[in-house]
Order: sequence, then structure tokens, then C-alpha cells
Amino acid sequence: FNRAIAALRRTKNTFISGLSDLFSGNNTDADSLKKMEEALYRADVGHATTKYLVDRISTQKDTFAQGKPYSLVNHVRHEMLQILEHKAQLSVQYKLKLGNPTILFVIGVNGAGKTTTIGKIASLYKNQHKRNIVIAAADTNRAAAVDQLKIWGERSDIKVISPEEASASVLKKQQNANKSFNQVNTKMTPDRVVTEAYEYCNSIKNKKAGQAPDLLIVDTAGRLQNNNTLLNELSRAIDVSSRLRRGAPDYVWLVIDGTIGQNSIDQAKVFQKRFKVNGIIVTKLDSSAKGGVVLGIAHELKIPILFVGVGEGVDDLREFKSKEFIDGILG
Ligand code: GDP
Repeated sequence: FNRAIAALRRTKNTFISGLSDLFSGNNTDADSLKKMEEALYRADVGHATTKYLVDRISTQKDTFAQGKPYSLVNHVRHEMLQILEHKAQLSVQYKLKLGNPTILFVIGVNGAGKTTTIGKIASLYKNQHKRNIVIAAADTNRAAAVDQLKIWGERSDIKVISPEEASASVLKKQQNANKSFNQVNTKMTPDRVVTEAYEYCNSIKNKKAGQAPDLLIVDTAGRLQNNNTLLNELSRAIDVSSRLRRGAPDYVWLVIDGTIGQNSIDQAKVFQKRFKVNGIIVTKLDSSAKGGVVLGIAHELKIPILFVGVGEGVDDLREFKSKEFIDGILG
């Protein structure tokens, strides 16, 4: 956990150093609140959440103190914790319910760290939880994304089903069904890749007892939020997976770049409107000097933050823990 703590310490320096003077004096006069607002804003907490926090500090002081000596730093800690521990966050199960296999869609804009995060999740569940993982490369528009996934797959010895492989499998099945070549549509769309990958998982289950894949992780096309064709394709793939699993709940996790502040929250809202996102992963917290964006995400989206990315390596994924995070930024 050392790197994560180091990252948070860095966060601390820029995030809170501007506030520490205010804390020590326990001042909540208008001038101090203004400075606090500026510091929170600079730390990427975002407009709505900054306003909310400052408002709480100014109006809930007496309620928080309950007649005891008032501590501003404890009050800030309390309010931040309330934001991070919203109902959905508290009900979170870090471990996926795995089996048959469970299908996990990983979505997000290009560059957010989707592929890297998939590599990390796959390795975590394979090596730490000893589960059998398969990855479906369902970004049928970008060959480079497929190649990148294959590299992650090779590193951790995890099978990656590419669109080409899915296409070949469709062709083979149709030929077995005696269709002539011209009748066979082998054009790959995300839903078809998911279907083929799911069937691949089931074929393993039938062939090798005890080796049934538990988890099928689906990589999806990025740059989605303003591209209706891609959004529709993704919708279809999620619908198909739900049918394959006979309505069992799917997992749709959104990867958010932790270094781009309010932009990342706005992007996430577009995804949230369209899909039932049930988990968030915030990446690149090691390279963000800020980290306040995590508070903004929690406050504005109310979707559980499951993991944070703290580096480019396969092991640089941490379960998100609210108290540790706040300790990291407040010291
Ligand atoms: P994708 O386009 O969403 O699939 O993004 P990639 O997985 O290709 O990541 C984009 C860049 O961000 C790559 O250079 C990654 O190494 C880097 N990256 C991803 N996650 C992290 C992280 O947690 N920390 C840091 N420092 N870099 C990251």
C-alpha cells in the first residue's frame, strides 16, 4: 500500500496545505470559509461539492460540536466521510459474485485507463482470488485496443477473445450448420464478440471440469459519450449479456481519469444517464497532485468507488477505502 499512501501524501501537500492554517485556528468566519472554498476548488473537488462542503461547515458547526470544543479538522473529516460513505458505497461488495461466468463490462472514454485497469482486475482475480478469467476484446473499431489487451492477457496468462477469433468461430459454426459461405455474416459487433466469448467460456466448462471461467471481462469502445452508434452498440452488448445470463445482474464498471477534474465528473454523468453503472474506478491518483475529484465523484454520482489506480503496473490497483483516503488527504 506504500505507493498509494505516498500518492495520497502528495495529494495532501497540495490539497490540504492551503487549509491547514485555517484548521489550526478553527476559524469559520467568512474570510476563512472563502479561503477554504478556493483551496477545495483548486484541489479538483468540483463546484457543486465544494459549495456543499463549505455550506455544511458554516451551517452545521454547532450540530457537529454538540456543546464540546469545536474542531474544524474533525468537522471537515466528518463531512467528507459522509460524502464518501453514501448508501450505495456502504452496500458495496468489493468482491464480484462470480460464476457461470459473471460478465463485467468495463466502460469509459479512451485514455482513461480502461485497458490497463482490465489488466489489473484480471490479474487480481486470477492471482489473488484464484479465479479463472477470460477477457473479451469487444472494441471492434480499434485494432490497437485489441493488441494492447492481448499483451496484458499474455502477461498474466489469461485468454483474450479477439474479434477475429470470434468471427472465425461464427464462421466455423455456420459451416458446420451447412450454410454456404455467402450466407454467413461474420462481421463482428460487440454483442457478437460477447456472445462468442460467453460460448467459449461454456465450452471450457463442458470440456474441462473444474476449469470453468468465473469471470468474463468485456473491454468496450472508448470515446463513447457523444457517439450514438457506439453507445447503441454497447447497449446491445449489455442486453445480450443479460439474456445470456438469463437476466442475472451484470456488472458495468466505469473507469474515470482522476487527473482531469470536473471533466471526468461530467463525462461520468453521461455514462450514468445511459447505463446502469454499478461501480467506479478512479485511475492515475498517483499522478494527480489533487485527488479531490474522488469527493466530487462520490457526491455527484452516488455510485460506489470500488478501486483506485495508483500506477501503470499490474499490481497498482487498490480497493477504495473511505477512511484511508481521508486520512491520506487530511493526515
Ligand atoms: P484506455 O484508452 O482507456 O484503454 O487507456 P489505457 O489503459 O491505454 O491507459 C492510458 C494511459 O494511462 C497509459 O499510458 C497507461 O499506462 C496510463 N494509466 C492507466 N492507469 C494508470 C494509473 O493508475 N496511474 C498512472 N500513472 N497511469 C495510468
